[in-house]
Amino acid sequence: MKYKSTRDINVNVTAAGAISRGLSADGGLFVPDSIPQLSKDKLLSMCDMSYPERAYEVFRLFLDDFTDEEIRHCVNSAYSDKNFETENIAELSHLLTGTYMLELWHGPTCAFKDMALQILPFLLTCSAKKIIDGKKIMILVATSGDTGKAALEGFKDVDGTSIMVFYPEDGVSNMQKRQMTTQEGKNVNVCAIKGNFDDCQNGVKAIFTDDNILAELDKANTVFSSANSINWGRLAPQIVYYVSSYVQLVKDKEIEYGEKINVCVPTGNFGNILAAYYAKQMGVPIAKLICASNANNILTDFINTGIYDRNRPFYTTVSPSMDILISSNLERLLYHLTDENDALIREWFGALKADGRYEVNDTVKQRIKESFYAGCCNDEQTKAAIKKVFDEYGYLCDTHTAVAYKVYEDYKNATGDDTKTIVVSTANPYKFGYAVYDALGGKEVSADEFELISKLEKLTGTTCPAALANTKDKEVRFTGSVESEEMPAAVLDFLKK
Ligand SMILES: *Cc1c(COP(=O)(O)O)cnc(C)c1O
Repeated sequence: MKYKSTRDINVNVTAAGAISRGLSADGGLFVPDSIPQLSKDKLLSMCDMSYPERAYEVFRLFLDDFTDEEIRHCVNSAYSDKNFETENIAELSHLLTGTYMLELWHGPTCAFKDMALQILPFLLTCSAKKIIDGKKIMILVATSGDTGKAALEGFKDVDGTSIMVFYPEDGVSNMQKRQMTTQEGKNVNVCAIKGNFDDCQNGVKAIFTDDNILAELDKANTVFSSANSINWGRLAPQIVYYVSSYVQLVKDKEIEYGEKINVCVPTGNFGNILAAYYAKQMGVPIAKLICASNANNILTDFINTGIYDRNRPFYTTVSPSMDILISSNLERLLYHLTDENDALIREWFGALKADGRYEVNDTVKQRIKESFYAGCCNDEQTKAAIKKVFDEYGYLCDTHTAVAYKVYEDYKNATGDDTKTIVVSTANPYKFGYAVYDALGGKEVSADEFELISKLEKLTGTTCPAALANTKDKEVRFTGSVESEEMPAAVLDFLKK
């Protein structure tokens, strides 16, 4: 299996090359040159496998330059009950007959980013060994919340790596800040920036190409890498849970093999739902992919009209991990839907950069409609959905999951389609406790994160996961905050430690 660039089909790298580089030099994303197939026999044989075994079966198809031993090492290191609070890793919760919540938040940081970021460090160190043997890797992350913490947990104490995370001092929730500043591990560093997320992001980008820093890095036998969501090493792990949940439903006799299911995904950067598309293309019987957005509904408009237009207001919502106007992974979908036409991709993404807008051709519009449905909802509807799901089914969901649930309901009403459906649940409700408590009509919202937890526990009879509650007693290790101009110096300091 080789990987091409969405912007140049002459690029030809191995999986290790794609994972260690992250992004192609032409600005394109790495994509597999063919989509491997999972036969009926193979899928049925996976029914009796554990999650890491199922992951192994998927990875061996995409990472054929890795040895069996290397893949086993990666999946077993990542998906163990040491890191996840459930042996199943991803849980399917039954909301009502034929509607399932796929809970992807049983990892160490209680959000679905863990599903990929727990394994990325192992995929990356394995890849680096093949490409740039003997060098150490320093990961730099700019985060607006969830990714930074999940990357820290993934890379902590992984041999041959270190990680530094920058976050906007006033741009993350109290709980997110607490989660990051109490991070344990010998190879980690966390730094607050007096600025916003863009300042962090621009600062990190500049450091990646800063000659002075690169020279120092070279002396320390180290290279930079990134853990962001366009890396193939983050996308491939997400395919696994779609394959796994399908075979689990067969195993649990919820469906017969071959029966198609729908999947509804709360979407931001288009990574999670794209992984479901790959699973479908691999032969998993999936009918519709339902793309759910919040008030930042650029993807809803795109899927319905074929026009992607980022010239629009940006809204801050109660589902912040979906507040996004550029969904990077969409580029991979369009590459496949144009039959790998890199010239068209260059044209459209060039227009996006220049004018903030592009329109796809009729063939692609048609193909999108065949596989996808899109809908969106605002904050008020999100909160109403949290209340409804709790009142009717006794199930407490977070704000992102609630967006997906609401859009799924709208889909059912609009189409009458009663195909069994997996609604993807991307965060534990306690991670976004304020909005959830408010949605349930909670009174006297407290400014203190931990007081709020106990109020939400009392109101709902649920329990806050230990990973969040325990941060109360953890030592705060990282108190520093610097101007964005001081980021290079902070990285050099960390390099010398
Ligand atoms: C990142 C994130 C999303 C969006 O996922 P994409 O892969 O970017 O589409 C949704 N919900 C939560 C809780 C997230 O952290």
